Amino acid sequence: MQNDLLESARPDFDAETAARLAEIHFGVIGVADGLAGERDRNFSVTAADRRYAMKIGNVAEGVEAVDMQIRAMEHALKVDPHLPIPAVIRSHAGLPLVTIDSPQGTHPVSLVSFMPGVAPPPPPTAPAYRRRLATVVARLSQAMRGFDHPAARRHLLWDVTRLEELAPCLDYVAGADRDVVARQFHRLCADVLPRLEGLPAQLVYGDAHAGNVLVDSSDPELVTGLVDFGDATWGPRVLDVAITAAYQTFQTDPLDALVHTVSAYHVADPLTRAEIELVPDLALARLVQSYLITTWRAAIHPENSDYILDDNPDSFDVIAKYHEIDRDEVTSRLLAGCGMGQPHRRRLDEALALRAERLGPALTLSYESPVRLHAGDGVWLEDVDGARLLDAYNNVPHVGHCHPQVTAAIAAQVGRLTTNTRYLVDEVAEYADRLVGLLPDHLTVVMFVNSGSEANDVAYQICKAVTGNAGLITTEHAYHGTTFATSQMSPEELGTGPLERWSARLGGAETVAAAGSGERVAGELAAAVESLESSGHRPGMVILDSVFSSEGVFDPSPAYLAAVASEARRHGALFVADEVQAGFGRVGSRFWGFNKAGIRPDIVTMGKPMGNGHPMGAVVTTAAIASEFASKWHFFSTFAGSPVAAAAGSAVLDVLETERLPERGDEVGGHLRSRIAELGDSRVVAVRGAGLFTGVQMTDAAVASEVVERLRRAGVLIGRTGKAGDVLKIRPPMVFSRHHADLVVEKLAETLASL
Ligand code: PMP
Repeated sequence: MQNDLLESARPDFDAETAARLAEIHFGVIGVADGLAGERDRNFSVTAADRRYAMKIGNVAEGVEAVDMQIRAMEHALKVDPHLPIPAVIRSHAGLPLVTIDSPQGTHPVSLVSFMPGVAPPPPPTAPAYRRRLATVVARLSQAMRGFDHPAARRHLLWDVTRLEELAPCLDYVAGADRDVVARQFHRLCADVLPRLEGLPAQLVYGDAHAGNVLVDSSDPELVTGLVDFGDATWGPRVLDVAITAAYQTFQTDPLDALVHTVSAYHVADPLTRAEIELVPDLALARLVQSYLITTWRAAIHPENSDYILDDNPDSFDVIAKYHEIDRDEVTSRLLAGCGMGQPHRRRLDEALALRAERLGPALTLSYESPVRLHAGDGVWLEDVDGARLLDAYNNVPHVGHCHPQVTAAIAAQVGRLTTNTRYLVDEVAEYADRLVGLLPDHLTVVMFVNSGSEANDVAYQICKAVTGNAGLITTEHAYHGTTFATSQMSPEELGTGPLERWSARLGGAETVAAAGSGERVAGELAAAVESLESSGHRPGMVILDSVFSSEGVFDPSPAYLAAVASEARRHGALFVADEVQAGFGRVGSRFWGFNKAGIRPDIVTMGKPMGNGHPMGAVVTTAAIASEFASKWHFFSTFAGSPVAAAAGSAVLDVLETERLPERGDEVGGHLRSRIAELGDSRVVAVRGAGLFTGVQMTDAAVASEVVERLRRAGVLIGRTGKAGDVLKIRPPMVFSRHHADLVVEKLAETLASL
């Protein structure tokens, strides 16, 4: 057994010598006081303005090893300057350490800044402390990645990968305890250590023991310092989290402690599944190692045995408990704690029954053969059986399912701060400013909400408050939301059910498609106003879905839009453009559905695609309307406009811009529409739309429905819309390419041929 370092006595220097060394070599004039240490001689050196820590190393340690530790600390602080680790003070000669000789040999001497804080409270540790410590260790591990040194692979018994070398120490363990420790020791050596081969390796700090951690004196759960790089060696990086976790298991439920530590570590420095699975055994390996080394060392150095044996009873308790642990449960709880849990997969019929019973009958599922999903990526969805489906339908994952840029932005912000709009978080107003920059100049105020429904509901309240009128007018088969007010703008959902008397309808598909739709809409609006007035209401809001998505997909003419806007105002109402479907480039480079011929809505509402799946919406209006509303109503929505929403929304805009998706949507959508038209199939009556929103008018609903179902079975998802349900709705994520469009056309052609 290699044991020079651990067997050799601590160097024998006094405080006066330490103070002299600080002055001579580092120019620090101060008072030195002894600190605890296992194998080195440590001192604090208090100067007039700062405190330092001096370490006079054991001769057996070797100058090279200390040089490595010091340089590793310098490297880590360069990478992550806010890491709570000591800063290295270089000598007069610019060296990271100096040496002195004694009768024992040559000792390395280093000086670092003294870390603030006090020792953490004794075990059991608090979950918040475990998480904070794990985060610091994860950051340190990341910061040391890329660092190497000739001494990194030195021989050190505190290196967990050398556990086998401790076999002789078993002889020092007394009585029945020896069997308990030996059983785990032999299992770890035989079954666990061989599994370390091939894991990601780097310099491992390797010693997040309570004695090396400092916490805030007014909050013992805040880690202010991590010191002592004396055990740093090259090894699998998972050792750092395992060693950290090991010392959290004392006097508590070890499994809880492991989950708290590993999950927090994983957020800051993601681990692989194989690494996570190894953590419990590696944590145990550290405790077995610690128990064996300290038992042996206490026998050799009885004068220092209290310090050496401090952890031993706690370590032994955990080692003794280990065989009671259900290993599958440990693994599944750790993986779940890191967001990698495997959900229990029910049989399809059971899953359907549970959903029907718990989510209720109001929610229907799409397709005769339900799509049971597991993952998404760009324009692709993956079902639970691993089959890939081309998503030509979903607009919520606007820039593609799980776009990495949006995922990263959301994850980073969730991990940093999420709060509400009662606090000043600059990014929220900056995002609002960015949105305003994408709209006509008169629209300057953004009120954040959580969904398209809430946006339209708030828009209605604004219209009511500003015009004093409660009547609303929408199109014949529109959908604008699920709240009570918006249900009255959603004849599509109400079916033939009656509208409240304060809600009236314009013509839908027929009107917008008709030649001269501008004149026609003026008459229809006048009739709607009359119907409101007959029940004692005046119109306050006229709302349009600017791509007529539930009417059957129409790109309205400028004349139509202009007529709706001007007639609405002429009758005293505000004109609201609902861009929940059309907005954010869905209809191409004009970016908004209403954005034609200088149309200026009073209010624009947004939702669905805004956050690529993060639930968010917005009501954008003029400064005058916003202040009129504010003089009559309070507005606040708890989750709306959170920093996470701002991060998601900004990332979506970044992707739209940098990948030029709206422009590409014009091109790919045009290609798709012309290829479908070129099929020349007699059941295709018309192909229309804009950008990446396409409606294919079929001869009847039965054909449309059959096409949708057969395409789903062929692995392509599209939908159906229109009052008669006879329009195919093709509205894929914006990262849809020509190649994907060709795939849809190919499958559509095959489907039509099979009908
Ligand atoms: N407006 C339009 C035009 C919509 O299509 C929808 C949703 N389909 C909404 C509003 C409501 O949005 P949400 O479901 O996010 O509340």
